[in-house]
Amino acid sequence: MSVLGHGSRIRGRYGGGVTRRLVILGGGPAGNTAATVAATLGAEVTLIERDVIGGMAHLRDCIPSKAMIATGGELAGLRRAHTMGLRASGELDVEALRSRVAAIEDRLHSSLQSLLESQGVRLMSGAGRFLDTHTVEVNGTEGTESVTGDIFLISTGSRPRIPDWASLDGERVLTTREAYPPPEIPTHLCVIGSGVTGVEFTHMFSALGSEVSLVVSRQQVLPLKDPEVAAVLETEFLDRGVHLLKGARATSVTRTGDAVRVDCNDGRHVDASHVILAIGSVPNTDELGLAAAGIATDDHGYITINHNCITTLAHVYAAGDVSGKLPLSSVAAMQGRKIAEHLMGLHEREHRHLDYEKAASAIFTEPEVADVGLAEVDAFAIGRKIRVTKVPFATNAQALIKGDPRGFVKIISDPATGVVLGGSIVGRSAAELISVIAVAVTNNLKVSDIVDSLLVHPAMAESLAEASS
Ligand SMILES: Cc1cc2nc3c(=O)[nH]c(=O)nc-3n(C[C@H](O)[C@H](O)[C@H](O)COP(=O)(O)OP(=O)(O)OC[C@H]3O[C@@H](n4cnc5c(N)ncnc54)[C@H](O)[C@@H]3O)c2cc1C
Repeated sequence: MSVLGHGSRIRGRYGGGVTRRLVILGGGPAGNTAATVAATLGAEVTLIERDVIGGMAHLRDCIPSKAMIATGGELAGLRRAHTMGLRASGELDVEALRSRVAAIEDRLHSSLQSLLESQGVRLMSGAGRFLDTHTVEVNGTEGTESVTGDIFLISTGSRPRIPDWASLDGERVLTTREAYPPPEIPTHLCVIGSGVTGVEFTHMFSALGSEVSLVVSRQQVLPLKDPEVAAVLETEFLDRGVHLLKGARATSVTRTGDAVRVDCNDGRHVDASHVILAIGSVPNTDELGLAAAGIATDDHGYITINHNCITTLAHVYAAGDVSGKLPLSSVAAMQGRKIAEHLMGLHEREHRHLDYEKAASAIFTEPEVADVGLAEVDAFAIGRKIRVTKVPFATNAQALIKGDPRGFVKIISDPATGVVLGGSIVGRSAAELISVIAVAVTNNLKVSDIVDSLLVHPAMAESLAEASS
């Protein structure tokens, strides 16, 4: 299935008996969600994908990383079993892990492909490129074909950024995309980059048994996140023996035999068995013929869009990682849905613009990190008055029962109205729990709405109510 559930719940059709021909480049969460929603609404849809329906970043990065993190979590749980009154030991079976990851990818890919086919979406295999404003040339294994359309969507995603000071070899010097699972579990992994992807990889491989060194260019991991949240994660990493190289920038990666040396700008270096580069991504927009078609990009290659995801050409939309908004599958899929509704002329009352400020996001470390809406640091930076309430999980009965009382819930609200403006959670199940705050933020609910809800006991969510009171 695609990232968002969709289909039968969509109402409304483009009026006047006109059939809209939509051509989509890229079958990730943005492209495939737009395809299914637009097809449900009556569009004639062609979806062009050069690699895998489901999306390279989505199916080859997001999903396998979470599958490996889940295995790492189970393994860590087995190692902690004695704290739950159990005797158990865990041993990693890399081949079984490899099969498990592949099976999940296959299952998601084939169910999505069947869904698209059942909705009459025409699937074309090959790389699409604009020849002019209304024609795309598709280069596939079986030759070249031209496709014309009335409306286009560019959703070609992104790829890992590779700096000029590192040469990938697919064995020991890898980007995130080659690491699922790696040829072997590294004895000593050096992760370069401490944003969301870097910390997830640090967590994943330390849970799977690797010694890990993390090169952190600033003084805090997750530099854009709440410092209190980052501090919980740093403590966890240090407890596990992760080496944090704070304030260091990698300047070269050199492989000699089975060893890889990473040198940093401050004179420090790491001797590792493997290196993973997690230093961001670049949009797949360089080979699309955008300039010839008159579609503008910014200096970094991201496509310029307006609030309805329309590019500088009125009949061409862009969504997902190419749009330079939040690089999340959830956001890409929601953009795809909104685009389909908009291009099919759903009434303005039903078509709501996307508010990127209200997107929830999570980091699948242990403990998990999740946040939504206004952050305390950002409110402080703009001088906005806020009420901040913070409740540790240490007093939550369910957290104690599960043997994991790490972390806290923080809720940001408007002191005058009580409206929930944002929140951060670090702790077990944070990625699930943040949904409650996300619903509150999206719908302008008040802290009293959370407090007055009759919640389950014992549950981690009780700390949300406590932090709202
Ligand atoms: C390691 C990692 C972990 C992540 N984890 C999460 C997570 O937990 N949660 C989350 O929400 N997001 C996560 N993301 C981000 C998420 O994967 C992306 O934001 C999302 O996949 C973007 O969707 P998309 O449709 O724009 O691109 P993609 O999923 O990359 O799909 C774009 C597709 O376009 C195709 N394409 C490219 N060029 C052409 C062309 N010329 N013609 C035809 N097809 C073309 C590509 O082959 C690709 O399949 C993660 C990313 C990474 C790297």
